[in-house]
This record gives sequence, C-alpha cells and structure tokens, in this order.
Amino acid sequence: MVLEVIVDISTAEIDRPFDYEGEDVPLGSRVAVSFAGRNAVGFVIGKKLSSDFPELKRAKYLDTPISEEQLALMNAMREKYNLRHIDVLRLFVPSKLREERDPEYKRIFLTAAEVENAEETLKRAPRQREALEYLLKSGGEYLSALSERFGAGAVNGLREKGLVSESSVHESKVPLSELSGRKKQVALTEDQQEAVRRITSEKGVFLLHGVTGSGKTEVYMSVIERMLERGKTAIMLVPEIALTPQILGIFRARFGDLVALMHSGLNAGERYDEWKRLKDGEARIAVGPRSAVFAPLSDIGVIIIDEEHDSSYVSESNPRYDTKEVAKLRAAACGAALVLGSATPAMESYLNATEGKYHLISLKKRIAAYPLPEMEIVDMVTEFRYGNRSLFSAALRDGIGAALSRKEQVILFLNRRGFASFVMCKACGWVAKCEDCDVSLTYHKGENVLKCHCCGKRYHALSKCPMCGSTEIKQGKTGTEKVEEELKALFPDVRVLRMDNDTTSRKDSYFRILNDFSSGGADVLVGTQMIAKGHDFPNVTLVGILEADSALYFSDYRSSERTFQLITQVAGRAGRADKKGRVILQTYSPRHYVFRFGRTYDYEGFWRKEINTRMVTKFPPFTKVVRVLVAAEEEQAAVDCTRSIYRAMLEAERRTEKFVYLGAARSPVTRMHGLTRYQVLMRLTPELYEKLIPEIYRLTAEYKPKKGSCFAETDPQSLI
Ligand code: ADP
Ligand code: ZN
Ligand code: ZN
Repeated sequence: MVLEVIVDISTAEIDRPFDYEGEDVPLGSRVAVSFAGRNAVGFVIGKKLSSDFPELKRAKYLDTPISEEQLALMNAMREKYNLRHIDVLRLFVPSKLREERDPEYKRIFLTAAEVENAEETLKRAPRQREALEYLLKSGGEYLSALSERFGAGAVNGLREKGLVSESSVHESKVPLSELSGRKKQVALTEDQQEAVRRITSEKGVFLLHGVTGSGKTEVYMSVIERMLERGKTAIMLVPEIALTPQILGIFRARFGDLVALMHSGLNAGERYDEWKRLKDGEARIAVGPRSAVFAPLSDIGVIIIDEEHDSSYVSESNPRYDTKEVAKLRAAACGAALVLGSATPAMESYLNATEGKYHLISLKKRIAAYPLPEMEIVDMVTEFRYGNRSLFSAALRDGIGAALSRKEQVILFLNRRGFASFVMCKACGWVAKCEDCDVSLTYHKGENVLKCHCCGKRYHALSKCPMCGSTEIKQGKTGTEKVEEELKALFPDVRVLRMDNDTTSRKDSYFRILNDFSSGGADVLVGTQMIAKGHDFPNVTLVGILEADSALYFSDYRSSERTFQLITQVAGRAGRADKKGRVILQTYSPRHYVFRFGRTYDYEGFWRKEINTRMVTKFPPFTKVVRVLVAAEEEQAAVDCTRSIYRAMLEAERRTEKFVYLGAARSPVTRMHGLTRYQVLMRLTPELYEKLIPEIYRLTAEYKPKKGSCFAETDPQSLI
C-alpha cells in the first residue's frame, strides 16, 4: 500500500504529502519515516495503490492519534483559512506525539527504595541525596520531572546504586488537581430548564444570552450531564487561561475525573496525559481555551463556547482560524449542538439569532435576589475643571475609602492600550522607539527597562537623551503602576495586587494573584483586560473603571462594541454575593451611547443602535473585511508584492462588481520584527467574498516576497 504522508519537519517549505510504502493503516495514523536522511514522524492523510515514484521508502506504523472525523475537520479548515497541512495537524496532536520516541517512555515513576544506610552511601553526592530526600518526602516522582529538578546525572546515580524503585505504571497525574470547587447541587429555574430542554432536543446553534449570574454555567453543566447520560461527550471552551481555573474547579466538583483540561500552560507531559485520557475515553469532557475545540473525542454531543464574543477565540498567528467557525464545522459534522453563551453576544451572533439562523435563548433574570450593581457615570472633564488632576474622581476616591473601612474589596480596571505610556525627551521631543518595530517603547518601573509591546524586545532605561544629551527625560509609567502609586498615596495602608502583562509573565502567576485576592490577601486589585473575565469575588463591592473611553476612539469599527462588552463584564465583578455592588465609571464622554446603554445593562438597546450604524456604514457583519498583509526585509519587495495584489484586485473588481472598499497602503505599524509592512485592505459583500477569497489566497502565495511573508486575514481582530 502507498501511504501519503505529511512529514513533521518544521523547516519543510513544501506543503505536500510524500509517498511511502507501508501497511494498510487507517487515515490519521502516525508513522515513523526517514526524510532527507533524518528520522521523522509523519501523518497519513491518504492511501493509494501505486505511486509515480519508482522507489519508495518504508513508513513504520506507530499509532492512530487522529480520527477520520478530525481529519475531515482538518481539511475543511485548511481550505477555509488557507493553511498548511502540518500547521493544522499540529493543532490536533500533543507535542509529545511529534517526537519519534514512545511518548510514555519518560513516564517511569521512581520511589525511594528501602535500603539501609542510604544516607551514608550518598555522603559524597549531595545532589543525589537531595533527590532521594525529595522522593522520600513527596512519595515519588516521574523520572523526567526528577531529572529536570536535580539533573539527569544525579538521578542516574541513584538508579545505578539501586536506591530507587522504578515502576512503569502510567498513572497520569491530574493537572491542577488542587483546584476543585465546592459541589453545589441547585434546582434549575424554569428558564434554565427550558434552556436545557431546547439545547438537548433541537438541532443547530444556540445563542444563550444572559447577564453574569443569570445561571448560564448551570445550564452548561446540565446539558453536559444529559449528553453523558446519552453516552456522548462534550467540549467546554472558555476564553483564557486566567478564567480556566475557576470553571475547572466547578466542573471537577460536578464531574470528577471525567473532566480533562487542555491548555498551553500545562507542560508537555501533562498535556499528553490529558489528551490520552480523552482519547481513551477515560475523560469525556474537555475543558480549555480555544485549542480544546480540537479535543480527541468521539461522539461529541455538545460544544459550548462561553463568553463567545471574546477575541481570544480568534487565533491571530499562524495557523489563523476562528474557533467559533471551527466549532460550527465540527458540531455540524458530529450532529452535536453548539452553544454560544454571553452577556454581550458579538454583533454577528445576535444578528444571526434575530434572523433565525441561531436559536435564541435568553436568561433574563439574575438568579440570586441581588440585582446587577448600579453604575454611576462620572464626567472627568468636569472633575478636571474643578481642579482634580488625579486619576481618581472624587466619587471613586470616596467609594474606595468607604469600601476599605468596611473591610470590603475593590477592583480597579483600566484599559491597557489607552494607558501605554511612552518615553520622551522634554528638551528635543525625541521619543524612544523599538529598533525592529515602528512603535514607541514603554517604561516598566518594576524592572527598570523599556519594552516593546509589539515584539517584546527589552532596552536599558535611559538617563540621557541619545539625540541631544539632555537628562530631562520623561519616563512614563504603565497605567497600572500609576494607579497603584496614586492609590498608595491616598491610602497609605492599602494592600494592592496588580495584574497585567508584567506581573503575569510566569505560568502560574495569574492563578496565584487571583487566589491571593480572593482569599483576602489584598484590598484592591488593579488590572487590565485580564481581570474583566469571569472571576468570582464575593467580597468585592466596588468596581472602578478608569478611562472607560480609552478604547472608544481607536479607529476600529468595533470600538463601541468592545467598550460595551468590557464595561458590562467588568461591572459583573461587583456584588456577586449578598453585598450590594457599585460601579463607578470614569469617562471624558459621558453622553456617548455606549455608556447610556451600558449604565442600565441594556444589551438589546445597544445592539439595535450599533447594528444600524454597521448597516449604514457597510461594516461587518454586513460586509467582510479582508486584509492582505505583506511584510518583507526589503521595502521594494514589499511594495512590489502589494502593488501586484492591488492590481489583481482592481481587475477582479472590474470583472465582478464594485468593492465596498479597496485600498493599499503602508500598515499603521510600518515596521515589525525588522520587516517593512504594507497592506491591501478590502471590504466585500459576503457573496463577493465567497467568490473571491480562493483567488485572494492564490495571489498571496504567488506574490509572496522571497524574504518575508504575505497572507490574507478575514475580519482581523486588529489592523495595526
Ligand atoms: P453565569 O454563568 O450566567 O454567570 P452561573 O451559572 O455561574 O451564572 O450562576 C451564578 C450563581 O448562581 C452561581 O453561584 C450558581 O451556583 C448560582 N445558581 C445558578 N443557577 C441556580 C439555581 N437554579 N438555583 C440556585 N442557584 C443557582
Ligand atoms: Zn533630547
Ligand atoms: Zn519591537
């Protein structure tokens, strides 16, 4: 049998299958092959009886990690998003399966053996002794983890001396097992029951619209329970790593070991273990951010996307895809229900619901007796006029003081982007910029460095202007740092936790900060977008939103929508328990309709106004925005490519119909990662989009600069 194999070699420029001789194995199988003189792993995506090549090398069968259903999904994604085989394949298999070794080889479990005088033997080997002591204390550890900790030399020493016992039991450890929430069985309200009934009996896509605390999560869990009773499995998607712990705890309490966690914060071994438990049917519910949509489950009964409007569901780097669309494809292929849940659905989702393409289910009331927190809008222009130059309005300052004296907690939210500060010379006006990107650097006081928020490059903090030598340099602070500082000046004893990109660079730091805060380790949590998500802090009674309009004046057609989503979400953090919550929103444009509707949590009102604007101005969901981004080492190469594609699009326009918009220009960020960037921007009716997108994909491949890249994105999340 001739197998068509995609070889997993990262440097391979060629995106096509290679023929190998092998047994008749199922499609989606993993094989060991030799490629360009190297051993590699490959995936069988096709089979045939003969090949055009006379002499074929042999492929050795390893296992079958990808099901036919997944393979079909993979192909659909490839076509829809113009992706390479290998990039999509990698979404479906844990990294351990991309090594040729047996993924379980490292899973040797070591315990301290019962040997007399072990201490004596190890007098001259302190590392080995430490490792042994660790084994005694912990009751055992995996070989790989122990070697990582104490070095392979020390561990092998112990093994040679017979001081450890080895077992190959592959007992997978459940990641974050310390996280299990309280089990709480509730009797569903009538609205919830009706929601569960519809989702489990009708077909298609369901939009579950309900404010925070309206009981959506309980609906999800009941739906999943029904599906499990029918012998089916479920996928539960949540926006971000920071949100996963809480929902994971709730799910574990309800479903125990049937839950598997899939996310990138796990190490490769843990990821493999969880993947395997799903694959083997030991676990039947996959929980995680967007990559969990690729979970190796069969008989999927339901896919749930919580906070469906969240932008993290769109992958913005290769492979680019929209999780919602992928989930739609997968659910349809499996005959599974797809549930999109949100308090502030995406414009398009709600439009689909009103047009009958989705089933709309609304949970109108909050479960508990307590209402949504009251929102006060503070006009910062007036504050300024009365001489208040601080970040805090009088109302917010008083509110914080009152909450603190009642021993209650406060959340202060600010929009990261609106606050990024730059470093400028006061004498000559020079601004510090990244060498590789055309963006100004941000000063980080904690580490005393300048950082590029675009590529992450770090620079020494400056004491002198490199242009004029002046020492009058304004080292701005990041927004969260500034807030913390002012807060401490106002309330000297206040205990503050900060959550932003700086404080959460470590894998477990989200988790630590949130835990700390919820157990009362601080009075105030200051943070960016990250804290807007679904955390539940019963003792928080005040939420302050600083500079609520900073996202509003971005030149992006979604800025009102995003602002509305953000304020609704952040406001939902206050008053989750028996204490009454309060939200103070500071803005320079208090009469903007976002705040008018936001103040009363009037999603429908906001949606009607906004959708009308989109229709009149011909923006999504009534059109598709396509951006072809060209990046090249040499400016001329970028220009040539951009021009060729632009001309081809002009030609397409003549052939078909006038585009809503067509333009080509430098990108707003003209350089990034050392490449010069140009773009062709288009807005097309959905019908024309379907017709032209294959051609656009073809053009990007045809004109791609030799040293650089060129790709097309649909409705990109950011246009920089
Ligand atoms: P959402 O996901 O919409 O924010 P949740 O499902 O988390 O809402 O519910 C909010 C709170 O109300 C949770 O503490 C949950 O346990 C509780 N709750 C939900 N449904 C019920 C119910 N039918 N009876 C009692 N409490 C409920
Ligand atoms: Zn200067
Ligand atoms: Zn940079």
